[in-house]
Amino acid sequence: MLETERSGARPETLETERSGARPEQALSARVDLALLGVRGSPPLRRTAGAGPSDDGHLIIDGLSAAVPRNPLSPYVLDGDRVLLDGEETGLEVSAIERPAFYDLRTETGVAYEKIAKLHGRDVLATTVMQTCIRYDESQRCRFCTIEESLRSGATVAVKKPTELAEVAEAAVRLDGVKQMVMTTGTSAAKDRGAKHLARCVRAVKAVVPDLPIQVQCEPPGDLATLSELKDAGAESIGIHIESLDDSVRRHWMPGKASVSIDEYRAAWSEAVRVFGRNQVSTYLLIGLGEDPDELVSGAQELIEMGVYPFVVPFRPHEGSLAVDVDHAAAPRSDVVEDITRRVGKELTATGMLGADQKAGCAACGACSVLQNVGG
Ligand code: SF4
Repeated sequence: MLETERSGARPETLETERSGARPEQALSARVDLALLGVRGSPPLRRTAGAGPSDDGHLIIDGLSAAVPRNPLSPYVLDGDRVLLDGEETGLEVSAIERPAFYDLRTETGVAYEKIAKLHGRDVLATTVMQTCIRYDESQRCRFCTIEESLRSGATVAVKKPTELAEVAEAAVRLDGVKQMVMTTGTSAAKDRGAKHLARCVRAVKAVVPDLPIQVQCEPPGDLATLSELKDAGAESIGIHIESLDDSVRRHWMPGKASVSIDEYRAAWSEAVRVFGRNQVSTYLLIGLGEDPDELVSGAQELIEMGVYPFVVPFRPHEGSLAVDVDHAAAPRSDVVEDITRRVGKELTATGMLGADQKAGCAACGACSVLQNVGG
């Protein structure tokens, strides 16, 4: 059974818990925001896309934060303040302005904004292939909306390496972008899309050689492809499993679950050899029904391998099967806080910090609360 079903947690339940959740403590308020989101429209936002994130981007207490936009949230964005039921929360919040590169177009008329997006204050993010062989309803990851953004016209299906290079150059020059994340839907090829990533990295590095790049892909079949990605110029890599519990994987990610955890382990291990300790990461989602202790011990094993476990609360997003079919709710805030603190403690004890990654989701940290607890 799923955590959300077990707890019966629904937004109204979460609100009740929130009011008793020591709102004076910054971490609790930050967790609440990650789960309940804000009403209002931050200038920088993203609707639908690959993986589990779909948010407005803010700076909260000096750290990047990707916060769901939720018309039912008790938190309201009011300029540079976040109000809770009309009262000051004490959180220092600032919006991130729409970047200048969004106003440009390629020679063929494609808006740069459809090729790559600004995430947080200085991360350029792109999905180099916006389709996924796993997007059939019976195979799709239930939190994912990768093809919804394509259908809505917000992006283009395949990003050409030359166009990505053009956009990256502009984003660095006009908006001070400091790192780039390239993810991909899974292709039908043996490399599952990794080779196209390598071509994109090479093209971007040719024009902005100092821009650190993280690539994200499934285990790429032939592990030698990991060296190809590194040789192309990628500094770090995310190989995202989302859960280490096979029954959770089979329910939430039926397609991806066909790739065994052993295959992930082999890919992480080779990636650490190629990219180095703490330049490899994986998402672990909180709230898919996993046992919290097992999630934390799985994270510990990853840390021992040199892989950064980026623990992120599952957030229900419109257009996903999780919302449209399962009516799944966000996890309980106390569970998110507890797991985040425990994993953060392990990361701190081993000196493995997200901020030490050269590029990527953990380096940015906006979708997690780990950096708020020192991870
Ligand atoms: S593998 Fe899953 S999360 Fe990744 S793009 Fe495909 S459906 Fe989405």
